[in-house]
Amino acid sequence: MLSVVGGVVELRLPLSALAAASAAAALGYAAWIRTIRDAPATSSADFVRSGVALLKWLVDYRTSACRRFPVLSQAKPNQLRDTLPTAAPEQPEPFSAIISDMTTKIVPGLTHWENSAAFFAYFKPHSSFPAVLGELVCAGLNVMGFDWIASPACTELEVVTLDWLGRLLRLPEKFLSSSPGPGGGVIQTSAGEASIVVLLAATRAAQRRDAPVGAPDEAGGTDVGRERCVVYTSDQTHAIIKKACMVLGLRCRALPTAAADGFALRGTTLATAVAADVEKGLTPVAVIGTSGTTTSCAFDPLPDLADVCDAHGLWLHVDAAYGGAYACLGELSPRFAGVERAHSFCVNAHKKLLCPFDLACLYVADRTPLLAALSLTPEYLRNAPSEAGAVVDFEHWQLGLGRRFRALKLWFVLRRFGAVGIREHVRRGIALAGRFADGVLASDMLELAAPPSLSLVCFRLRAPEALSAAADDQLQRALLEEVKARGVFIIHSRLGGRLILRFACGGVEQREAEVDAAFAVVAAAARHVRRETADDTVNQT
Ligand code: PLP
Repeated sequence: MLSVVGGVVELRLPLSALAAASAAAALGYAAWIRTIRDAPATSSADFVRSGVALLKWLVDYRTSACRRFPVLSQAKPNQLRDTLPTAAPEQPEPFSAIISDMTTKIVPGLTHWENSAAFFAYFKPHSSFPAVLGELVCAGLNVMGFDWIASPACTELEVVTLDWLGRLLRLPEKFLSSSPGPGGGVIQTSAGEASIVVLLAATRAAQRRDAPVGAPDEAGGTDVGRERCVVYTSDQTHAIIKKACMVLGLRCRALPTAAADGFALRGTTLATAVAADVEKGLTPVAVIGTSGTTTSCAFDPLPDLADVCDAHGLWLHVDAAYGGAYACLGELSPRFAGVERAHSFCVNAHKKLLCPFDLACLYVADRTPLLAALSLTPEYLRNAPSEAGAVVDFEHWQLGLGRRFRALKLWFVLRRFGAVGIREHVRRGIALAGRFADGVLASDMLELAAPPSLSLVCFRLRAPEALSAAADDQLQRALLEEVKARGVFIIHSRLGGRLILRFACGGVEQREAEVDAAFAVVAAAARHVRRETADDTVNQT
């Protein structure tokens, strides 16, 4: 008989059944029980038994345990090193022991990203149970989808689901694999890795474009030195792009934005910067437009950026890592105007689209530059379908070789939630943020630091106009620390040089009451900081 003890499924021998059984049958039964109890790690029965126990454990964590802990882990540095044995066990251990340590040793060392009622930091993650099951199946099947022949369904499901997602997000047809053109989507590990891929392809294309007559044009050749190649971003672009430029040895220009433009990059600012670089004999390569910037969810005006790109033959990449999910809402379509003129677009399904990390969806209007920059086929990977050009081999669309069956996660989510469920989830985040924004607007202590956008509200403590920048920073930091000390996790950033606080809503199970409770904490913290700093503030103006 199977029973649940302390959240772990255990096998119990019914004594009455034993008494009634023949000696032979009892012996057989006992042997079977021993097999289960001492099951080797490879046992199927143990896998099912422990798997069920682990799923239950996970449900308990997400629905209640994580809400009982402070959102930020109270762990001390090296806590696990000092708690766990110094060497791996010599003898196999049962799963029940591992689950027990998960509860007592691992969970206290977690920051509770997913379902804590007090997590409003970064961009709220949104991993759902269907996607978690997709992750499990991905690991269980453990296929390697680097080329089509390695596991056709792995490649083909990725092609199909990315087209499904592209349609859900109303992306232009040219980004879909099913379009007659050379475009298509591919799953990358992160938006950061996707940007390295894109900028590499864009750089190779620009190097060829600006190659001096007669220069070698071999793959890997440096027709125009990378150090002369320039990528254009704004001061609001995520740091992944700067890192991609560091990796690739490219120049990265972070152009200024202003509050008056909603912290979006102006086309005229870009045009002036590109013209100045051309004048200096540099090679402009690509422009990064962001749809939903990290600090304030601003949207760069893609048509204006595309005009500059067209004039100079530059690659326009849209980083929509977070904001891209919101393109599923028809009412937000105007914010994505101009995406049809971009060369590539990246949206993270592991942010707003209900999947756990890692699942960055990169769409390109033309796969040729990617393939030109990243294709390399050693003898041992040559095969007939690839050489006939009849199939997609995603190894040529990414940095490494091996690739997981990540499309399963997205496929499970798209099917289990349906477009209706996904739109509802995305809309709910906006509504929750609206509640918080309303509280800020109604408060005489707080003010909005930027127009609320998507599921994000940027706010700050009202301060006297004449307060010095340093004193203002100090005031906002005091508020941040007070909010965190009262158990609500938010983070800060900078807008227009000023320190601001960010409140990011929209977890899968997040409730209105939690947002209201968090606002009450922020308001109480603001009153406290106001009281504590009233005299100092006057002195520092
Ligand atoms: N781009 C934007 C606009 C982001 O907001 C973020 C993270 O929040 C990233 C990129 C980084 O994404 P990833 O961790 O997938 O590289």
